[in-house]
Amino acid sequence: MSDCLFCKIIAGDIPADIVYQDNEVLVFKDINPKADVHLLMIPKQHINSLEQLNASHHDLISNMMLKLPILAKNQGLNGGFRTIINTGKDGGQEVFHLHMHLLGGKNLAGF
Ligand code: 5GP
Ligand code: ZN
Repeated sequence: MSDCLFCKIIAGDIPADIVYQDNEVLVFKDINPKADVHLLMIPKQHINSLEQLNASHHDLISNMMLKLPILAKNQGLNGGFRTIINTGKDGGQEVFHLHMHLLGGKNLAGF
């Protein structure tokens, strides 16, 4: 998707503070952090949102979920963390490339 911000980050056309990547996901720091730790995990393949998922994405989504607690531990979040997936306009999604927010640290606001 040539006009997708996160695809441009994957391609290296827009810089990002990358924390982790493998063949299927990229993890980078949110540009406007809402907590001490605020990472975004995205699939390297373009998927608009959670609403576009189908059975072919089963392994990808499972792998992403399994990586979240490992990332959290690596960030020093030993007491827990929060994950958020905003979906669609009414769900507060601003960037239409599926992403999981990983938030943590002592300044985590109430939900
Ligand atoms: P959404 O509201 O779509 O769930 O979250 C989009 C997130 O992407 C926001 O937290 C926002 O701060 C972050 N973001 C938007 N543009 C950029 C960017 O260019 N670089 C990085 N690292 N994060 C971005
Ligand atoms: Zn994209």
